[in-house]
Amino acid sequence: MTSTTSPRTDQDEVGWETAPTLIDGARTLQLTVGQCNLDYWFTAVAQGMLAGLANGHRPGTPVPGYMREPGPLRTALISELGFRGMAEEKAARAISFLVESAPDIPTMEFYATQLIDEARHARVFRGHISELGVSSREMQNVVRELSGPDIEAVIEPLERFAQPVRDARDFVGGVVLLTVLVEGVLAPAAELSERKWRMLDPAAAEIERGAGIDEIRHLTVGSSIIRNHLVAAPQEASRLRSLIDEGMEMWVKVPMLEVLRKREELFQEGMQQYASVVGDYEIWPGTRLLETTPGERVEKALTWSFEMQQERLTYMGLAPLPAADSDGAAD
Ligand code: FE
Ligand code: FE
Repeated sequence: MTSTTSPRTDQDEVGWETAPTLIDGARTLQLTVGQCNLDYWFTAVAQGMLAGLANGHRPGTPVPGYMREPGPLRTALISELGFRGMAEEKAARAISFLVESAPDIPTMEFYATQLIDEARHARVFRGHISELGVSSREMQNVVRELSGPDIEAVIEPLERFAQPVRDARDFVGGVVLLTVLVEGVLAPAAELSERKWRMLDPAAAEIERGAGIDEIRHLTVGSSIIRNHLVAAPQEASRLRSLIDEGMEMWVKVPMLEVLRKREELFQEGMQQYASVVGDYEIWPGTRLLETTPGERVEKALTWSFEMQQERLTYMGLAPLPAADSDGAAD
């Protein structure tokens, strides 16, 4: 660790040293709009967790020199951050709809904070691309070239899928889209990323960690909104369930797996060049990162995603996703 002191907050779920991992937090914590209002966000997040950060990481955390050298490792990180930065920007813009259509003030306040969180994520992901030596003049072209096709193939279909929900001014449908179909699906890839960059680019891993702590709040509060809605209006379950099923079908059709595999293959090539930096570091207990393959890492993210979704959907009052070999008659 560096001499820089960690930002402090007395809220464990947003503390740098005390917050659980994204996956554990999303599975076990229960947070609500009542707790996570604007006041909480200012004190625990803006003046707590985010206090003193520079570019989304502690100012003394290094960006190793080799991360600025052209090669597969740098390309892997730029293309990942480019993709995720654009996705975050799109999320921030889409959340304006939830701010606008929120049914009450605490919910409006929560989505106003989430909008800023996502805009911040987009900013710090882009900021790290600059820390890797890409000038602001080159930024747009570099990101468009490395990540544009993946955004077009994966995120744009999702935006088209979401449009009818927005057109219908369907607030709860919008929360389901965001919580279950966007963040619920993408969060495990973010957790994987934080773990795999920890040794090779500690600043990138800290940026991811900060975004992950925010993500726990987004996933848990979003789930509690859906749960409360279904307690008050149980007849809504089948409509929301169909929305989730259609969304999951859309995910099967977009090439997300190919994007993840390509990302992991580039990372693998780069990691092998700097094997001595990675050393014996374990990506998860009992497994050394150096011994993992791209396929295994993708597989792990998918397993986390599936398990997390099952638990969250059960909590929300929506039946777990049917197993792959069932005929889908879950109700
Ligand atoms: Fe985000
Ligand atoms: Fe989020």
